[in-house]
Amino acid sequence: MLRRLIDSPLTYFVGAGLLVVVAIATQIEVRVPPLPEGTPQDVAELPQRGDLNVVFVVIDTLRADHLDVYGYGRETSPNLAALASQGIRFEKVLAQSSWTKTSMASLWTGAQPLNHGLLRFDDALPAEARMPAETLKQAGYRTAGIYRNGWVAPNFGFAQGFDTYIRPRPGRARQRAQSQHPAGALLEGTDEDALVSANEFLDAFGNEKFLLYLHLMDVHQYVFDQDSPPFGVGYLDLYDQAIHWTDRVIAHLYGKLEEIGVLDRTLFVITSDHGEAFREHGFEGHARNLYSEVTRVPWIIGLPFRLMPGVVVEQPVSNVDVWPTLLELLGLSPLEGIDGRSAVPLIRAAAGLDAEPLAPTPRLAFLDRGWGHRTRQTPIFAVEDAGKRIMWWPQTDESPERVHLFDTEGDPSEQHDIYSPGDDPDAERLLGIVREHSESAESPWGVDARQIELDEMRLNQLRALGYVLPGAERR
Ligand SMILES: [Zn+2]
Repeated sequence: MLRRLIDSPLTYFVGAGLLVVVAIATQIEVRVPPLPEGTPQDVAELPQRGDLNVVFVVIDTLRADHLDVYGYGRETSPNLAALASQGIRFEKVLAQSSWTKTSMASLWTGAQPLNHGLLRFDDALPAEARMPAETLKQAGYRTAGIYRNGWVAPNFGFAQGFDTYIRPRPGRARQRAQSQHPAGALLEGTDEDALVSANEFLDAFGNEKFLLYLHLMDVHQYVFDQDSPPFGVGYLDLYDQAIHWTDRVIAHLYGKLEEIGVLDRTLFVITSDHGEAFREHGFEGHARNLYSEVTRVPWIIGLPFRLMPGVVVEQPVSNVDVWPTLLELLGLSPLEGIDGRSAVPLIRAAAGLDAEPLAPTPRLAFLDRGWGHRTRQTPIFAVEDAGKRIMWWPQTDESPERVHLFDTEGDPSEQHDIYSPGDDPDAERLLGIVREHSESAESPWGVDARQIELDEMRLNQLRALGYVLPGAERR
């Protein structure tokens, strides 16, 4: 239904009419949204409500430490700060990979990368995979996904459970913002195109109970407009300007929810799949290693009421915990056999409802640096617990084993490797955990990831994101 709506010429004109609204809204001021006052007890009672919508926004490539609400020195994201100030913010969130597809599969399924098995460019989720959108659809939700990153395209299995799952046509909105990506990004359009599609969905179905997933790409593509503060001309500055632009896109989406009158029955969730490096460890970009600049991401939950003050969860969590948490808040059945766990007990403790939080557990991340190759395997593992972080490069045909150890409190930017074999019981314990994990992959669904054929068109769409893929010698 929505696909037809969006592709019809009539809707195109409706979309054109929206341009005015979009253009005005980018001037939006930070303000306290008109929500009823709430209490921690209202948070505890969310699972009993049964009337909650979910807007689930993935801001691709957004590192947490470039948001002012996470302590950054620049005001890159006043609207996200306002959202967090009266909702729930998780201070330390680990993405399960630094490459979109591996990381997104963990975010959606709650399974660690080795367990869901989406490690290479041609891996796809099997039909047996249990996706949160399926759970919500079965519970009567209208489900829509609007994505601009080809790594979460339907052929990789990410559309399971969505009534509508579309890539918005580029150029639906006036293209005021432009990419300044150093790699000369070729991805057409901007996140305003996704916004136009989201507005259409909300106009058509906002009166039903819905899940709306938006996967935004303008931070990944360093897109911004003239209204972004002129932070500077370095890549890092351009990246920050893109965050500011995206923060305004988010504000507009939020404003649309206000306009259709559903803010007081919507969970508004902000997440990311990985960060971005600016030569902290010799690399720019992402999908090459697992240092904190590419694995620490934000997680903010806007509530259907104002909590004053908002809740900050200090205990570290992972992206695999996001959907277990949201499903519990919605009062829906949990995903079975997965690695993530609900952070609701942590929220309750942080809100002062319970004294006993969950005990911390080791948090894992994984990247196969050979993801763009058909056979070469070059895995990296990271594990964090109790203020320590191990990064482990197992021995391969090409390189010997390497281990790095970092003190996550004293050296959060991971500049000083303090690993000395056998010296630190905590480090040896973490190394043991990650080695055991590397040999115990098990699908939660009892079915391995599928391998799919990618045609030249799809490969080109993915190359346009700046990734090097088979047959990509041209670039
Ligand atoms: Zn990504």
